[in-house]
Amino acid sequence: MATPEVAQARRIVTEIPGPKSRALQERRRSSVAQGVSSALPVYVERAGGGIVEDIDGNALIDFGAGIAVTNVGNASPRVVERAAEQLAKFTHTCFMVNPYEGYVEVCEALNRITPGDHEKRSLLLNSGAEAVENAVKIARAATGRTAVVVFDHAYHGRTNLTMALTAKNMPYKQGFGPFAGEVYRMPMAYPFRWPTGPGDCGPEAARQAIDQITAQIGAQNVAAVLIEPIQGEGGFIVPGTGFLPELADFCRANGIVFIADEIQTGFARTGDMFACEHEGIVPDLITTAKGIAGGLPLSAVTGSAELMDAVHAGGLGGTYGGNPAACAAALAAVEEIESQQLVKRARAIGETMLGRLRAIADRYGIIGDVRGRGAMVAIELVAGADDHTPNPDALGEIVRYCHSQGLILLTAGTYGNVIRMLPPLVIGDDLLDEGLSILEEAFARL
Ligand SMILES: *Cc1c(COP(=O)(O)O)cnc(C)c1O
Repeated sequence: MATPEVAQARRIVTEIPGPKSRALQERRRSSVAQGVSSALPVYVERAGGGIVEDIDGNALIDFGAGIAVTNVGNASPRVVERAAEQLAKFTHTCFMVNPYEGYVEVCEALNRITPGDHEKRSLLLNSGAEAVENAVKIARAATGRTAVVVFDHAYHGRTNLTMALTAKNMPYKQGFGPFAGEVYRMPMAYPFRWPTGPGDCGPEAARQAIDQITAQIGAQNVAAVLIEPIQGEGGFIVPGTGFLPELADFCRANGIVFIADEIQTGFARTGDMFACEHEGIVPDLITTAKGIAGGLPLSAVTGSAELMDAVHAGGLGGTYGGNPAACAAALAAVEEIESQQLVKRARAIGETMLGRLRAIADRYGIIGDVRGRGAMVAIELVAGADDHTPNPDALGEIVRYCHSQGLILLTAGTYGNVIRMLPPLVIGDDLLDEGLSILEEAFARL
């Protein structure tokens, strides 16, 4: 099946959103629940490479990748071909009824590419939240303990347990309680906002977290420490150096399962296959989703055979988990990451983005921080050069301008003042530069 080539050039032929998108947005109001919102309501016709084309004929530069999902590009030909082949054979049997090879192959691939060369097992599910829920189930079953430790600014999903694990109230938790118990929140090593400055943030935050775990919960009661190695929705917070290794060591010494939530950071996004690799951390369990299957819904928990196999037969599963088409897509996506050397490409994208953004930040005091790794980069907007007060108003103006010029940009952050950039790893250098120039213009006009 031939996929239509999407021309790799920005093209703006109407206002953004255009008349057809505005009409659909109007229609949507009387059919779609308003609780689900859209960052930029241009309705999509097709997408590929670094471009998203809308139904009005505009071609937008994609700095979002559907929230770090289409790392290998949208409608990546290899992904489309393999998923289509599978769909024509069978669409579903339920792995818990009649299994199939694709599921086993994806587990083999995950066991191979995740950090650590120990004996591993994997479990496939549908969404990131479901993977996190299952990682907690496994950690509790394996340890016989109940407490779960999470961090300030964390995001782990929208189901009941994962809402409890997520830090931010609005919009994720407001009105949706009561939440699951035995969840304890610790300080995060957030260099830009650490009271004594970024220098010793990592070790100081680790010390505080470990002291609080010991004093308030008791290490012997903790089943798992759950953390995103770079926080996503929380604002692309790269923890101060040393924070993650100290936590991992503490977990190892106390029989606590260290779970890395790599749902946003995984699959080459940060310039390593997984973000944990940067500080040489081998998590006990790792949750993956988003970038795993080139846009098809799939998620996984991967971990040591000993932990994963601690759960009784029948204790894990789900009707759709490891859907055959999603598995075929995942195998194609991993092949694509490896054959196109997208880990290396993510590093190059990161160098370009960080370089340009730091140069822009030198000229505008409201850019308080430029941070990230690989193709996962953000800027945090503040009141001024010496005032770290969050500046969500400036963010609103910047993002509105970029959207109007056909640049898809996402926001993040506990204080709603972070612009995050997550281009597909197959974006061309020219589109990357053009997108960054639009962002630069936005600051110049502010
Ligand atoms: C997106 C995300 C989730 C939730 O994934 P869903 O597929 O939306 O359920 C969990 N953890 C992290 C770090 C995420 O970025």
